[in-house]
Amino acid sequence: MRRFNSRAVDRADLIKSLQKPEIVRRARIADQCLLCLCGGVNAAGLCEGCSANLNLEEWQAAREWIEGVRW
Ligand SMILES: [Zn+2]
Repeated sequence: MRRFNSRAVDRADLIKSLQKPEIVRRARIADQCLLCLCGGVNAAGLCEGCSANLNLEEWQAAREWIEGVRW
């Protein structure tokens, strides 16, 4: 999946973004997915659709948020 919107994070930068708490928090507060800007984001700032499409490396970065290791 490529970037849909210039305000969203480029897929190539997703892991970097997941490692920056302020970026994840901003997505959660705005309820806009980091990748596609859809609502209904989870603790990692990702919507259901994007969460389901993460590769292993991306999932490991997101999991810290989803499992509450980071908040
Ligand atoms: Zn999304």
